[in-house]
Amino acid sequence: MFMEDNERKTCIVCGEAREEGITVVTEFICTSCEAEMVNTNAEDDKYSFFVKQLRQLFVRFHA
Ligand SMILES: [Zn+2]
Repeated sequence: MFMEDNERKTCIVCGEAREEGITVVTEFICTSCEAEMVNTNAEDDKYSFFVKQLRQLFVRFHA
């Protein structure tokens, strides 16, 4: 028996349960949100949303 490594995690940005993505500190970001973040420029409304979500993560990490 092998442990399955495709456990779904909940993305902190979109809130969807996904298999594909990255884990930053202890939080999971799905590949589509990661790609969106990379492609979002600072003037975009979405950018501040991403920054806010990530800030929560780092606040938790440094607490
Ligand atoms: Zn996502």
